[in-house]
Amino acid sequence: MNMLPIFDGHNDTLLRLYLAGSKSEHTFFIQSDKGHIDLPRARKGGFGGGFFAVFVPPDQLVPRVTRYDRAKACIGYEIPIYPAIDTKYAQRVTNVVTASLFQLEAESKGQVKVVRAADELITCLNEGILAAILHFEGAEAIDPELDNLKIFYQEGLRSLGIVWSRPNAFAYGVPFRFPHSPDTGPGLTQAGQKLVRNCNRLGIMLDLSHLNERGFWDVARLSSKPLVATHSNAHSICPSTRNLTDRQLDAISETEGIVGLSFAVGELREDGRIDPDTPLDIVMRHMDYLVKHIGIDCVGIGSDFDGTTHGMRNEIVRRISGGK
Ligand code: ZN
Repeated sequence: MNMLPIFDGHNDTLLRLYLAGSKSEHTFFIQSDKGHIDLPRARKGGFGGGFFAVFVPPDQLVPRVTRYDRAKACIGYEIPIYPAIDTKYAQRVTNVVTASLFQLEAESKGQVKVVRAADELITCLNEGILAAILHFEGAEAIDPELDNLKIFYQEGLRSLGIVWSRPNAFAYGVPFRFPHSPDTGPGLTQAGQKLVRNCNRLGIMLDLSHLNERGFWDVARLSSKPLVATHSNAHSICPSTRNLTDRQLDAISETEGIVGLSFAVGELREDGRIDPDTPLDIVMRHMDYLVKHIGIDCVGIGSDFDGTTHGMRNEIVRRISGGK
């Protein structure tokens, strides 16, 4: 049976390999029960490719605050905003992780390709070559004058999340809060507005996941391209700051953009609990809601594989606290 290849809006596999230590790219070719994506499992699951995120882990952690009602039931959580990170640190990690994607391509003997144009992507999907789009999750490595944006583009950058859930020179990310509106702070900075125009001009897709609501509307006003949120869900089912309100969904569908449904349980469940033992039904409820609301052409998958596990958070904690 020929499986339709799945093209995924977001994964953090490069982060997992980076945290696993230097020169771990080769492990991508060996089937493992750790993490989510490796080449053998990708092949079995019909994973034709996706956006491979370069994410710079926080250099410090912030405490999570969980709220309970009198019956001790969890009624929400609040994680204070992550602090901004140092540009030099961001650039160093970005270079290492970006290089690891090219290393992975080189070691793959033609099984993995970093794609830079739509026709390359289509060819890969037709020929069973795993297609990777280079994506930055947060623009910290880009200098506010945008001098290096063109260099990153030449290297292969085709998709950029302006922020992760922290502030940077361009915009303000949403802190993780539940229940809460995504309207958590100011919109794009002047440098952020310039970034939008330059990405439009170069042909770098802008990813609105992790951006707060005012930033979202600024991009909607400034950008001439379809609006895309690669890994976010429906706020009306799960009122997390990371999810999209009905108005935001309407704006995405008006531009013939796309929403990638995320498998992060805290952004799926109606109660917001981060409980890995969550039935698949809730994924289907979001999928149905999105398809009914904005039409099937505007709905995709943004798994957040390798980025949304407790294991990953523990690994980052271990790194920050100096463990090797
Ligand atoms: Zn994310």
